[in-house]
Amino acid sequence: MQALAIESKTGIEAARVMDVAEPVCGPEDVVVRVRAAAFNHLDLWTVNGELPFEIDYPFVLGADGAGEVEVTGERVRGIKPGARVIVDPALSCGRCERCRAGEQSNCVSFEMLGEHRNGTMAQRVCVPATNVYPFPDHLGFEQAAALGVTSITAYRMLFTRGRFRPGEWVLITGIGGGLALSLLQLSVGVAGRIFVTSSSPEKIERALQMGATDGIDYKKVDVGKEVRRLTSKRGVDLVCDSAGGDTLDGSMRALRPGGRIVIAGATAGSKSTIDVRRLFWNQIEVIGSTMGSASDVSDMLRMVAGARIEPVIDRIVDLQDAPDGLAAMAAGDRFGKVVVRIA
Ligand SMILES: [Zn+2]
Repeated sequence: MQALAIESKTGIEAARVMDVAEPVCGPEDVVVRVRAAAFNHLDLWTVNGELPFEIDYPFVLGADGAGEVEVTGERVRGIKPGARVIVDPALSCGRCERCRAGEQSNCVSFEMLGEHRNGTMAQRVCVPATNVYPFPDHLGFEQAAALGVTSITAYRMLFTRGRFRPGEWVLITGIGGGLALSLLQLSVGVAGRIFVTSSSPEKIERALQMGATDGIDYKKVDVGKEVRRLTSKRGVDLVCDSAGGDTLDGSMRALRPGGRIVIAGATAGSKSTIDVRRLFWNQIEVIGSTMGSASDVSDMLRMVAGARIEPVIDRIVDLQDAPDGLAAMAAGDRFGKVVVRIA
């Protein structure tokens, strides 16, 4: 079958469309005929050799995918061939203490498609039957693939980890990326005010059209000071950050006393310096979040269906042009997801 894969860890040039072996499935797995897949930062880490473990080559990229169930394993019940599904790329053991507590993204043997195992940028992918979910009727395959990692992560950041309540004020950093846009879409209708940051006036303008209430150009002003100015010194209840790095301290200064910051990424760097005195004096909660549990996935899908949310897609490319899509991811200048259509 055709797939976007790598044969070595030598950067994005190594990713090309090639013929790879069909996936081999077990009795509790399903084969999904992938119709669309979507890129994430994870794919850049994989091609750039930034994973802290070895993978087998050729290795198929991609964590997000949507398609039709083609084959079901002999012990699979309740899913029939032909079902339109999205793939939850988070693989968990189902037996450890954290899995039994319903916290699958803290599984002791947690793995991801496109990171530990062959991913979704192929004509077929094999996953445990518990990793596929029917998706809302108002979405096509490309939109469903674009939900994936970002919407699951965003839902968990806001509601499960961030304990976001109706009327609260939220700051979302780096609007334009898939995760920040998912956070924005899931916040609209819940938040009292939504602050977004970007260095691009165009991205801020588009976010305001989507329901953000305040936009801040982080290249021009200090984010913490500007939020305090716009809120008459009150600050926001919740910050959702996936940048980390040098921006974290400024984001934390945007919080009201007793506020929460949920961190689910480090696109601006994995080391941050924070003022510990502000942390304890203002009794701020710093909360980590990654991916989502099985209930986060199904709750997110119900919310997307009910609010008829359509994920933001920057561009759709065909599989043979997938390397161009990966290059667009690396360039970083986009608004929404880069989706790969797989014929
Ligand atoms: Zn487990």
